[in-house]
Order: sequence, then C-alpha cells, then structure tokens
Amino acid sequence: MGQNQVPTVAIVGSGPSGCYTAQFLRKRFPDAQITIFDRLPMPYGLVRFGVAPDHAGTKAVTQQFDRLFERDGVKFVGSIEVGKDKSLEELRAEFDVVVLATGLSADRQLGIPGEEKNGVYGSGRITRLINGHPDESLEGIQLGERVVIVGQGNVAMDLIRLSLTHPEELAGVGVDREVADLIAHSMLKQIDVVGRSEISDAKFDVAMVKELGKIADVRFTSDAPILGEEGDPETQKRIDAINTLVDNSPVTAGRVVNFHFGWVPSEINGEQHVSEAIFTAKHTGERKALPADAIYTAIGFTEAEAAAVKRDAHISEITDLETGRLAQGLYCVGWLRRGPRGTIPANRADAKMVSEAIIEDFENNQLEKVTV
Ligand SMILES: Cc1cc2nc3c(=O)[nH]c(=O)nc-3n(C[C@H](O)[C@H](O)[C@H](O)COP(=O)(O)OP(=O)(O)OC[C@H]3O[C@@H](n4cnc5c(N)ncnc54)[C@H](O)[C@@H]3O)c2cc1C
Repeated sequence: MGQNQVPTVAIVGSGPSGCYTAQFLRKRFPDAQITIFDRLPMPYGLVRFGVAPDHAGTKAVTQQFDRLFERDGVKFVGSIEVGKDKSLEELRAEFDVVVLATGLSADRQLGIPGEEKNGVYGSGRITRLINGHPDESLEGIQLGERVVIVGQGNVAMDLIRLSLTHPEELAGVGVDREVADLIAHSMLKQIDVVGRSEISDAKFDVAMVKELGKIADVRFTSDAPILGEEGDPETQKRIDAINTLVDNSPVTAGRVVNFHFGWVPSEINGEQHVSEAIFTAKHTGERKALPADAIYTAIGFTEAEAAAVKRDAHISEITDLETGRLAQGLYCVGWLRRGPRGTIPANRADAKMVSEAIIEDFENNQLEKVTV
C-alpha cells in the first residue's frame, strides 16, 4: 500500500482498548475507514459490563467513546462474533489492518478440589449479572448468610461493597431489581475475604477500601498482624487503610466482613452445594475452615476456552507481543495483549503504543492485505 493511500482498519472488540485504538488511529488517519466489531449488540466491553454500576464516574468514559461513532466517523458493527459469524481470515482479506481487542473474559480457576460444586461463582459472572450482561441469568445462583470471597483485588472490593448496598440503592443505579434483591439480600450476615498475599502485598487500591468504610451497619475485622512502619509508603498506606477500616467500624453491627491475609485456598467442601472453604496458611501450613453458603472467586481472568479468536494461534517468528504485532497487518491490544492487569487508563497507554506500531508499519510500507 502506498504512502498516499490510507489503510482500512478493523478493530475486533469495543472495550476501552479497542476504542482508544480507534481514537489514536483516527487522529493519524482522518479519512480512513475504521470499523469496530463486537460480539454484543452494544459497545464498551467491561466498562459497561465489569465496572461497578455505582461507579458512574468511571463508566462516564463511554461519553468520549460515543464521540467516535457520533462525530468521528468510526463505524460500530455489533452482534458479530469474529471467528464465528465472520472469520478472522475474511476480515484480514477485507481490511489492511486488523486489531484484536477482545479482552479476557473467563474467570481464572482456583484449581482445587470441590471448585465445581454448586454455590461457587466466578466474579466475572456475578459482575456481568449485576451489570445486565445479555449472556447472564440468575439461574442456579443461590446465596445465603455467609459468603466467602477468594481474592483481595479491586473486583473483590466491588463485590463486598455491592453485596452490602441496599437493593433499592442498587436498583437506583440501574441494577435489575431481581438481581439487586439476590446479590444484596437482607439475610447476608458475614463475608470472609481471603487472599494468599500478606496485607503488604494485597492487590486492592486504598481508595476502594476507604469506600467500604462508608457502608452502614458493618463491622470489619482483619487477621493481619498490627505492623509498625513499613519501609515502602505504598505498603504502609494499604496497612493503614485496613487498620482504619477495622478501628472505625461499629463493634455491634448486624453484618461482619472479615479480612484474612496469607491464606491459600486448598479445598471446597459440601454435598452438592458448598458448605465450607478450607484454606492453608502460606507460612505455617495451619488450616482454616470457613463456613460458606456461597463462594465468589475473584482471582483474575483468562482467555475463555470457547473464545472464537485465540491470540496465541497467530504467534509466529515475526510476532512481537511487546509492540502488539501478531502477524502482518494483525495486531493485539489491551488485556488480550498484556494479560488481565490494569485499569481503563492503562489501556489508553497500550492503545497508543500499538497504534504507533501500526502507523510505523504503514509508513514503512509493511501493510499488505492477507489473502484467504
Ligand atoms: C469486574 C471488573 C471491574 C472493573 N472495574 C474497573 C474500574 O472500576 N476501573 C477501571 O479503570 N478498570 C476496571 N476494570 C478493568 C477494565 O475493565 C479493563 O482494564 C478493560 O476493560 C480491558 O479492556 P479491553 O478492551 O482489553 O477488554 P474488554 O473491556 O473486555 O473488551 C473486550 C471486548 O471484545 C468483545 N469481544 C470478545 N470476543 C470477541 C469476538 N470474537 N468478536 C467480536 N467481539 C469480541 C467483547 O464483547 C468486549 O466488548 C474492571 C474489570 C473487571 C473485570
């Protein structure tokens, strides 16, 4: 393709990484045909179906993405699952550039006995349900008085907060009333939040812990040893956030959230439905059994086995994942490129870098359509 031409671009996936990529490429190629495909009828991926519904400020990034379609001439084609409804080869033959921005949608498994029992739910499933994802339903979900959450990252913090918010309040931010009544039901008395990391390495953001302190009628406890000053100020902030949460919570509240640090999940027991989760202390090997009517796993995400497009199927000797180059004219960006880490702004930085690689390849005449 010559320098005086503009490339045609297909982006597969309309989450933040796909939308930011469209933004960067639109700036460099004001006249290029840019199309974003998504398997769902509506755009924005996890911004719509992952980010908690009570975090309207975070979700508001969709307003700038709206402008892509309303003002900047980027086309959105929904309800097309690339790899199923349209093959990737077809797409690569039609467009000069194809960018895979399909994310990682499957809940990472614990890999322990009993995980398949009724009552064990991935956080992806629960957060999609809360956000009204068209693939999810309430079918088979049964909670109870005690929920154990495995994982202590920000998704776990979202689950604690949403479970303890009044259903009416959840409905007020758009959660389906039936879903709100189930997730935040009034019988819920105890949440145990268990992580394999010590408090110093736990994955949550301090702001997310501080937010928990605003929920009424909850007592917080923690089994982390009271530590003195740590060297690293970020670590100290995490320790302080948990200690403050615990110290300021009412002793006589009707609900309790217990943080357990340094415990590795080892087994889930119960007949058909879960009844307890067993953990082993990382350092001493001591065992702890926590009664559970339901367990949420919140230990990260991975590629779904049924994913219609698999990144690694396209890896060859010319692949450079560092810059998002998968094959000639084929790129990857966002969670699919770098793994399930990082917030929405991290995808902007990622999209910038991959767009720069695309622009460089265009300028070096490296973009030739791949024929089927
Ligand atoms: C529960 C949860 C809460 C989060 N909360 C926050 C938060 O509060 N703040 C924050 O900054 N970050 C948050 N994040 C992280 C943030 O959502 C991710 O960093 C970001 O969404 C990753 O962007 P992505 O574009 O790579 O993937 P995604 O957002 O997952 O987008 C992938 C898109 O590709 C589509 N797709 C998949 N396969 C195909 C196919 N074969 N054909 C066509 N389309 C396809 C999907 O439908 C989806 O729209 C949260 C993540 C989760 C899981």
